[in-house]
Amino acid sequence: MAYVQRLMNHGKKSAGGGASPIVHKNHYFCKINIIDMTQDELFKVLVAHCKEYGFIFPSSEIYDGLAAVYDYGQMGVELKNNIKRYWWDAMTRLNENIVGIDSCVFMHPKTWVASGHVAAFNDPLIDNKDSKKRYRADNLIEDYLAKIEEKIEKEVTKGRKRFGDSFDEAQFRATNPNVLREQTKYDGVHNRYLAAQQANDFKEYKQIILDCDIADPISGTKNWTDVRQFNLMFSTQISNTGEADDKIYLRPETAQGIFVDYLNVQKTGRMKIPFGIAQIGKAFRNEIVARQFIFRMREFEQMEMEFFCRPGTEMEWFNFWKEKRMAWHVNLGMGAENYRFHDHEKLAHYANAATDIEFNFPFGFKELEGIHSRTDFDLGNHQKLSGKKIQYFDPETGESYVPYCVETSIGLDRMFLTVLSHAYRVEELEGGESRVVLSIPAPLAPVKVAVLPLLNKDGLPEVAQKIMDELKYDFACQYDPKDSIGKRYRRQDAAGTPFCVTIDHETLRDNCVTIRERDTMDQTRVPIAELSSLIDKEVNMNNLLRKL
Ligand code: ATP
Repeated sequence: MAYVQRLMNHGKKSAGGGASPIVHKNHYFCKINIIDMTQDELFKVLVAHCKEYGFIFPSSEIYDGLAAVYDYGQMGVELKNNIKRYWWDAMTRLNENIVGIDSCVFMHPKTWVASGHVAAFNDPLIDNKDSKKRYRADNLIEDYLAKIEEKIEKEVTKGRKRFGDSFDEAQFRATNPNVLREQTKYDGVHNRYLAAQQANDFKEYKQIILDCDIADPISGTKNWTDVRQFNLMFSTQISNTGEADDKIYLRPETAQGIFVDYLNVQKTGRMKIPFGIAQIGKAFRNEIVARQFIFRMREFEQMEMEFFCRPGTEMEWFNFWKEKRMAWHVNLGMGAENYRFHDHEKLAHYANAATDIEFNFPFGFKELEGIHSRTDFDLGNHQKLSGKKIQYFDPETGESYVPYCVETSIGLDRMFLTVLSHAYRVEELEGGESRVVLSIPAPLAPVKVAVLPLLNKDGLPEVAQKIMDELKYDFACQYDPKDSIGKRYRRQDAAGTPFCVTIDHETLRDNCVTIRERDTMDQTRVPIAELSSLIDKEVNMNNLLRKL
């Protein structure tokens, strides 16, 4: 913990440097090492860093906050907007057959009957009677299974080390007694769990928890209540008459707004199948277990796209969007090895195929995005409940049908956490210095350029302000005249700013400035006239989009 505290205090220490003149060489400091942290430590320091640098604040903090509700600060909102733009442009600008909408949080209550959310948007919850903590029963079992998997992988890694080049993994898995014992245990529990899921058998969920000796991580006891269903939708009333049928829900997903507007968009946009409708907006879920910072929130944002196609072609489009979405993630340069697909064994009531794109978060691989083939479930049910014909006449086949649909659905906040948890690191520099740096992909960075007069006098601020006034039309800029230049560099590194531009006395004579790059700390002297194009090459979102 002392180590974590040291990292948390890191940004507050003087980073040295003073108001010394800029050194015109490639590296002002050299990186020696990236300081290792456990995933747990990383997560703790990241949460503290998000608050310290204005990315994320607990909501209503002066009243001690509200569980699983967070506000985005001055830096956070910029990063969030950039992520939205990367997604929105990739969907609507790069695909001529995808258009966007912005539908309301409140929808007619029948929407949620048609979508199945009133009847089936439930989580199985269980309470520990000693700690009084509430858990999702399915998560407790899944975590137990993941631990067995981890044990098996550890055995395999040991075997690989022991046998070196002659290691035959398949044979090892089939013969090693420790692996075999754990695999049998895994298969037994896994099969029971799958059957319980299919049958929605809550008694069996509890029995599995008891049989596997799963204890509450807080109290350490196995004193569990029965498993109960819990509907995740928040409800309120639209008027104040208090009648039961005034009940209205806060949407638990943005997708239904798209389905309900399908006819309007298809007709007014003269859209031909296949085509898609994209939307970014708030969603609300009364999550039972709302931990892990912004990974699981009660109010969050989704970026969803529903792609409508001819029945029978949905698997082709499902595979198409799987690949497309994975390419969108990998394009950010955060390491292809940090993503994986996880195909669903139990399909939701509306799906005939489903996969998650998982990311390697500080707490392990977890769902970042869902891709579902939703068949004609949603449009078909809205047709039934509304009595309005939702059919598409296909001029190519001469048939009318309810279109099938493939959905891509990503949580904006989870995407935010992906970017920050990958970007955060602490580096040891030569001379005993260290720095915290957020290596956010440059086009997503909240601030692109910091403009820094070396001294706040001698005519330097005037020149710096002039440069700022020019750059601000193209880039999000920050003007920072205070503190030593070293401290200012460290501040910008910790906020993820890709470029610092420093104006010194020489600038007054040669019209050149020093541009410092965040990740390498390279410093280069460049004419002011070239600044804009140099920065643009790295931070322009269009370059990222062109690589897709
Ligand atoms: P999980 O299994 O983690 O609860 P889900 O399968 O219920 O997620 P979907 O209904 O498929 O999630 O929602 C699509 C995306 O919305 C998810 O991949 C995730 O990124 C995001 N999301 C869902 N619930 C939340 C939440 N409570 N907080 C933040 N993001 C969320």
